Amino acid sequence: MVGVKSALGKEYRAKKVILTTGTFLQGLVHIGTHQSQNGRFGESASVALSLNLADLGFEMGRLKTGTCPRLSGASIDFSQLEAHGGDLNPPKFSHYTKDFNPTQLPCFITYTNESTHALIRQNFHLAPMFSGQIESVGPRYCPSIEDKVYRFHEKERHQLFLEPQTRSCSEYYVNGLSTSLPFEVQEQVIHSIKGLEHAQITRYGYAIEYDFIPPTQLKRTLETRQMANLYLAGQINGTTGYEEAAAQGLMAGINACLSLQNKPELVLHRDEAYIGVMVDDLVSKGTQEPYRMFTSRAEYRLLLREDNARLRLGAHTHALGLMDDTEYTELCAQKEQIRGALERLKQTAITPTKEVLKRLKDANQTPINDKCDGVFLMGRENFSPDVLSEFLGFLNTLEPFILEQIKIECKYHDYIAKQSVSIAKMAQMLNTPIPLDFDYKKSTGLGLEACEKLEKFRPKSLFEASQISGITPANLEVLQLYLHLHQKLKKMPHESR
Ligand SMILES: Cc1cc2nc3c(=O)[nH]c(=O)nc-3n(C[C@H](O)[C@H](O)[C@H](O)COP(=O)(O)OP(=O)(O)OC[C@H]3O[C@@H](n4cnc5c(N)ncnc54)[C@H](O)[C@@H]3O)c2cc1C
Repeated sequence: MVGVKSALGKEYRAKKVILTTGTFLQGLVHIGTHQSQNGRFGESASVALSLNLADLGFEMGRLKTGTCPRLSGASIDFSQLEAHGGDLNPPKFSHYTKDFNPTQLPCFITYTNESTHALIRQNFHLAPMFSGQIESVGPRYCPSIEDKVYRFHEKERHQLFLEPQTRSCSEYYVNGLSTSLPFEVQEQVIHSIKGLEHAQITRYGYAIEYDFIPPTQLKRTLETRQMANLYLAGQINGTTGYEEAAAQGLMAGINACLSLQNKPELVLHRDEAYIGVMVDDLVSKGTQEPYRMFTSRAEYRLLLREDNARLRLGAHTHALGLMDDTEYTELCAQKEQIRGALERLKQTAITPTKEVLKRLKDANQTPINDKCDGVFLMGRENFSPDVLSEFLGFLNTLEPFILEQIKIECKYHDYIAKQSVSIAKMAQMLNTPIPLDFDYKKSTGLGLEACEKLEKFRPKSLFEASQISGITPANLEVLQLYLHLHQKLKKMPHESR
């Protein structure tokens, strides 16, 4: 990759190129039977680029997504609807944001009803999804309203959230009502809903099909395997969602810069960050449908908490030059304080003496029956650290942030400990060497695809095997078992094998 040539023939030379084309590659918008080549409604699709990528040898796939109609706020009868306020203490996106207390605008709740569903059913034949006009797969967890009415026909209603689009304009997003039904049907559907009887649609809902590049063609840095110096990020990799796109953009950008500086790549692991889970899923398994980063996909989700992001990833931030030495030293000291306090709590035995029981009672806390440690007490639901700090004065000296971390760590202590053991086991397993003459075909249970890939790449260790796209954690476990067996057989005297 040496740069980009625009449709007007202008050349932009670049050492690194990151493509983030969203839904624009061969984008095809559907509203009823109407189709138009757009990347978003009213914006041109990117056709030549998609063909160009296919010519360069990239395997291409096709997905779809959709959106709901937007309404003019002035035409909604809010008096009939239930208002939902924002979070009272919204978590901050960044550790550096201080005094975050924005004025919140409410959302409003309404529901579809039997007549909405009847209207939709009558028009199934005009819905591109059902008429065969759209064949590609959409996001499983954001189905269109026609899909919901079809698949969940026993439901009498579906909840809709009316969300203000921006602070300054009075346009509302009808969350839950993604649709590609014809314009006139969308109007009837909207008018059948409580509070929206006279609502005016400012923008219609639509479905869009677009090309993507199956992400098994990527390295973990998000650089393509086929073409050095070309990186892909966002929806082009088969994901959907703002955070997914932003996270990939960040990683592709970081790695492109690191590579320009001849520095080692930054690959986050599954036990370090959701970004690590997402990138690993994408490059090793690929995706057959628009991919969303669900916390449930992360086996180490108890460690990947929003509250400990800075503690988890601070070392990387510092290494990248994005956190100064003073702050990093402070961060390391905080980590040490948390570790030390947890250790002290573990070593503190609390016996149900009369005095202890009285103190617990005075503080309105459930009594203890048996001797326990500080971690147990601190981890109890509704347990206030103030009570424990009466027994353990050192807790009084800790900042609220540290105390909060300790409380969380205590609450999930046993589970976190189990996850840490499993991470350590995995790290140890990845160190296992693979003999060059290892016969993968004899490892039944690996599956044909994994077997072919391993034979082709001949990795020297399980770690190298784990870096091959399509090799899953389950494959690694099978392989480890056979490697163990292989070792055992080698050690046995020849006649007893
Ligand atoms: C209708 C709709 C509703 C959505 N609603 C939500 C939601 O509520 N919540 C959520 O989390 N996600 C939502 N998503 C998904 C989310 O918007 C996308 O996944 C995310 O924005 C993708 O980011 P991206 O950077 O990959 O692409 P985009 O944000 O789509 O950006 C792609 C950019 O590339 C430019 N481009 C494309 N081709 C070319 C070219 N050849 N030359 C120059 N420029 C080009 C385009 O102009 C565009 O600016 C929605 C998506 C759609 C389509």
